[in-house]
Amino acid sequence: MCSRRPARAALLTGKERLELVEQPLSEPGPREVLVEVLACGVCATDVRKFLTLDNGMLELPMNLGHEYVGRVVAVGSSVDHIVVGERIVGDGYAGYADYALIPLDLKPPLHVPRAITLPDEVTDEEAIYVEPLADCLHALYSRAHLMPGEHVFVIGGGVMGQLLGLCAQLTGGEVILAEPNEARGKAARNAGLSVIQACVAETNPPAELSALGPPDLVVCSIGTEASLQAALKAVRNGGRILVFGGFPKGSVQTAAINELHYREISVIGTHWVGASAGTYSLNCYPAAIRLLHKKLINVRPMTSHVFELRDITKAFAVARSLSSLKVIIKPNVSRRLA
Ligand SMILES: [Zn+2]
Repeated sequence: MCSRRPARAALLTGKERLELVEQPLSEPGPREVLVEVLACGVCATDVRKFLTLDNGMLELPMNLGHEYVGRVVAVGSSVDHIVVGERIVGDGYAGYADYALIPLDLKPPLHVPRAITLPDEVTDEEAIYVEPLADCLHALYSRAHLMPGEHVFVIGGGVMGQLLGLCAQLTGGEVILAEPNEARGKAARNAGLSVIQACVAETNPPAELSALGPPDLVVCSIGTEASLQAALKAVRNGGRILVFGGFPKGSVQTAAINELHYREISVIGTHWVGASAGTYSLNCYPAAIRLLHKKLINVRPMTSHVFELRDITKAFAVARSLSSLKVIIKPNVSRRLA
């Protein structure tokens, strides 16, 4: 069946240790599909797990890849809606490999479709953004209830900050992104965002932001105390702060509680889309695909590097540096984009 080349998988086996292992390729069970992985994005949380092992909370060895697209090479006997040859986006930890076996049935508490068919027009390199885009839609619309025309300030211009900015722009409100790094700021502008080159640790909100009036919603795309404090200073009275970026495990942050009390500010948490029950979370995936398909979101400027699977350690070294944005693993392609 799939004996074209050995089935390799890159597994996290210890702190800052990724190992390439060969695994036997099993036939899919009745409710499983087997895909040949075409591309898998490196997520910031993968890098965090690689560096910290989440303080011993991870079960090792682990395949961290969860932003992947693959071509179906075999389907189980009870699978009727997915056929061999289709490209699908997979969700679940299996993407750093030549092949991924995807179980279609959900086991609570997960609430996401595990495999979603892609239209031909969405390229492999665009498709790896489906999962992160779904998270952004969930955060902004399901959690923060972003309304038409609202003014949004996004703190942090990494990949997620840029995706959040682009998704927020869909409502027609002013969206400003703050990012101190010049290269990241340039990529964000190329993607179609208004960017101010500012460090969020500054005492007062940047002047460009003040000129537009205090934002209705401030999105902290990075989990730092400085970004939370900056959000509190910037947000309008009665506004919302969306805590999107995760903090290190066990973090405790302080805030002047009367700021929340007297200024009626809401602080909203958000997590991976699949962690929330409800049809809205299921809808985020097809919505993300549609945004890419209809070219309403341009993710291309965000991809900075593509590595082959065997170079995954190198890929993680690049992904943790500020000189990169989205790093993609393609099992058999290695190149650096300009
Ligand atoms: Zn992710």
